[in-house]
This record gives sequence, structure tokens and C-alpha cells, in this order.
Amino acid sequence: MGTSSNLFNLIAARAGRPGQMALDTGDATALTYAGLFERSGRAANALVRLGVRPGDRVAAQVDKSADVIVLALACLRAGAALLPLNVAYTLAELEYFLGDAEPALTVCRPATLGPVRDLARRLGLLAVESLGADRDGTFAERVAAEDGAFATVPRAADDLAAILYTSGTTGRSKGAMLTHENLASNALALVDCWRFTGSDRLIHALPVFHTHGLFVAVNTALLAGATMIWHNRFDPDAVLAAMADATALMGVPTFYTRLLDRPGLTREAAAGMRLFVSGSAPLLAETHDAWRARTGHAILERYGMTETNMITSNPYDGERRAGTVGFPLPGVSVRIAEPESGAPVPDGEIGVIEVKGPNVFKGYWRMPEKTAQEFRPDGFFITGDLGRIDADGYVHIVGRAKDLVISGGFNVYPKEVEAEIDAIEAVLESAVIGLPHADFGEAVAAVVVLREGETASEAHVLAALEGKLAKFKQPKRVFFVESLPRNTMGKVQKALLRESHKDTFG
Ligand code: AMP
Repeated sequence: MGTSSNLFNLIAARAGRPGQMALDTGDATALTYAGLFERSGRAANALVRLGVRPGDRVAAQVDKSADVIVLALACLRAGAALLPLNVAYTLAELEYFLGDAEPALTVCRPATLGPVRDLARRLGLLAVESLGADRDGTFAERVAAEDGAFATVPRAADDLAAILYTSGTTGRSKGAMLTHENLASNALALVDCWRFTGSDRLIHALPVFHTHGLFVAVNTALLAGATMIWHNRFDPDAVLAAMADATALMGVPTFYTRLLDRPGLTREAAAGMRLFVSGSAPLLAETHDAWRARTGHAILERYGMTETNMITSNPYDGERRAGTVGFPLPGVSVRIAEPESGAPVPDGEIGVIEVKGPNVFKGYWRMPEKTAQEFRPDGFFITGDLGRIDADGYVHIVGRAKDLVISGGFNVYPKEVEAEIDAIEAVLESAVIGLPHADFGEAVAAVVVLREGETASEAHVLAALEGKLAKFKQPKRVFFVESLPRNTMGKVQKALLRESHKDTFG
């Protein structure tokens, strides 16, 4: 019997005082540390009763609430891997994820229980439960009926803790397999780098189906024994008000631009805060500067991705440089390479960012060839982001090799949207691009070529995408052109399209 590397044991060992708030929701769903552990024990017992065994997957497409964290901890305790899914995904999209991951249990919103049960049954998946944001739903009923005592299942460091799907630019979405060690090592590094302690009160307003809200924020707070001030959605006024009694905020750049729109954002309003962190998409230098002018705080920008957890961070002490993502985290190696050959580039030059360390995922679920393609022979993971390291060691991200669009902090893979547009009868071909947008960072736009003799309006194209794609993936504008610009290799020149439409959203 070796020592268990179950992340839950680490969380329990480092927890705050039993009576301290873990999730301060401001209502009856709030949980102290003792309450969180007790409820996660009940939920783990419910999982086992539903047939979930160590090594199984548990899919969850549920609205944000404190009980999502209860479910996440219950999965750790039962030795199952959590598979969180964006609530914006349609049933058609859900079908792919469930078919690919074959979860032993699927948890959905109460309102979708009927259709998700039908879908799961067709796929041969039997256990489907519902969980609502107010402790409603069939799973919440089961949790209430169970006992809080549960013997946490031992796990090895490289056993799976979660699978997070990240689409590819080509082909289907890939499930990134994250281990207990991946999550534990990264959260411990962040606790140290960002100086989190049991006295911290972190405003949590991020979604919890993504690495940022689920792992960066929650695991860092729990491993510090801190309190999370829990918001089920991002409302700038509510977040602004919460700052009066908080010490830290983690957000996507959109949080910061929305907060800057509020006259109430002042030096006084942010006086009790010690840390503002931004990530998931580039923070504009002008946002960084405006924030400092208004609040006196320099936003700390960090960089990471689903597959690697967090890779770099600006320093806690020392200069937080706008437009950079700082230095590699302790234990994480970063290098810049020629995208094709993998050869090192001369100091200061642009190349693809590669990373190695205990933070880097185990591979893509059931895609060994795809996994092998994304790693160099010496074990470095090829992020697909283009960047450089300056003379002072700060990492700069200069673009995304794969033309990923990040709108409001969510990734949109052009290929997936293009495929849906190309399926429309009147359409010959299309190119989906991200355009600068003050609020979303980037907005999705489509450039469409119609078939000879066909006509279609913007409204027609948009209507055809309703229900096919999650709202955040649907284009905000559609442009019609005679033909797409291509280079001599036949590749669509998206940079030209972005350039000619760059002022669309002001
Ligand atoms: P995700 O897997 O959804 O977390 O998306 C990861 C991608 O988001 C990275 O590969 C980067 O392209 C981008 N990203 C994350 N953080 C930053 C940042 N601070 N600046 C620029 N891009 C970022």
C-alpha cells in the first residue's frame, strides 16, 4: 500500500478551520470546509450507489452552483474522472462527448433530464441524474439521502482526475486527460506564487466547466484553505460590490473591461483587494493601464491552457509587464522552437511555445496518435501558441498558430463553425475569423462564398446555425465575398480577412 496521491487528501490536509467558509454563496447553499467535506462524502456515496467505480468517468453539464464543486470533490473521492461540459453545448454536441467518453454517470440540468436520458439510452449509457443550482434535481435528492462518511479511494499520481474537452482545429474535439498530480502540482505552485493563505477571500465568478474557473480558481483557493465568494454568474455590479469584503479576483479580460465601464470602480472600491489575476485570453495593454490608473493595482496576467494547466505568470513581487505573460512557474520548463522542425530558435525570436513539467496532461482520451503528434521526442508538449521570450525572461504571446478565436474567454475553433456554414445549401465555402471587439476581446465573424446563382442573406445563414452551435460559437456578423483570398499553397489567408474587417465592431 503506497501513499495515496488523491488530490482530495491534499485538499483535506490543507483545509481551513472546519467552521471557516469554503464557498460563501450568500444563501442556503453556502458551505463551510466541514460542510463541503461532509456533503462531498454524501455525494461520493451517491456516485457509488449509482454504479460509478474507480477509473470511471462522470459527465456533468450543469449550471454553476456550489454543488458542482461538491460533485467535483465527490468524483475525486470515488476515484472517478470528472468530465465538465459547457452548458451552452447543444444536444447534438453532447452526443459526441457522451459517445466518446462513455461516462458511467451523466449529470445534467433538471430541465434537460428527459432529452438527455433519451440520448444516453440510445448510446447505451444508463445512469443519468439531474442537478440544479438550488440543490434541486434527482442527484441532489440522492445526496440528501446518503451518509457523509466516505473512505476516499486511494489514487496514484498519474491516475485520471478529470477529462476536459478542447476542440481541435481539424477533426473532432479531444479530451485532455488530467491526472491528480497535474492538478495538485499546478495548484500548489499557484498558491505559492500568488501568496494565497487561509485569510484570502477570492471572488469566484468564472464558469466551472473550464480549467480557469474549475482548477486555477477552486483548487488554488482550497489548497490555501481560503474562502471563495461564490457568484453563479459574472455580474459586474455584484462583483464590484463584493470587492468591499474580498482580497482577490480571478477573471478573463472581459471581466476587467466590463468592470472598467462601471463608474463605481475606484481606488476606494478596490482598497481591500491584494490581487487581480487575468488569463485565458490576451489582456490588452490599454486595459492593464486603465485598470492601474483607476484602482492603483497592476493586473497580474498569467498564461495556460487546458492541456498544460498554468504555464507562466507575471511576478507577485517585481514588475508585472503589460502585454506579457511573465515567467515559467516553478517546476515548469518553457522553450521556443521552430514549429515544423522543433529546433530551438535564437534567443528572443518567435516560435512555437513548448512546455514540459508535472503540469502537462497525460494525453488525449482514446487518441494515442493525436497525442504523439503534439509531443516532441524529448517530452515537450507543443502548445500551438506562437511566442517569444525577451531579454528579461518575460514570455510574450504573439498569436495562435491554429487561428483559434477566443470570444469572451471561450475558445471557438473556426473549423467547427465553417463546417456548419458549409452545410447550408446555398454556401460554397466559408472562413471564420475572430475580429477585435471591445467587450468580448474577439467576436466570431464569417466570410462566406455563395454557390453560383444562389442568394442568401446574413439572417438566413445565422438562422441556419441556431440550435446547431452553442451561442458563443455563432458568428456575430456574416460577410459575403466572390472568393476567399488564398496563397500559392491554396491556404485561405485569414490574416487578410481579419485585416479588411478589423473595424467591424468599432
Ligand atoms: P484553454 O485551453 O481554453 O484554456 O485555451 C488555451 C489558450 O488560450 C492558449 O493556448 C492561448 O492561446 C490562450 N491564452 C490563455 N491565456 C492567455 C494569455 N494570458 N494571453 C494570451 N493568450 C492566452
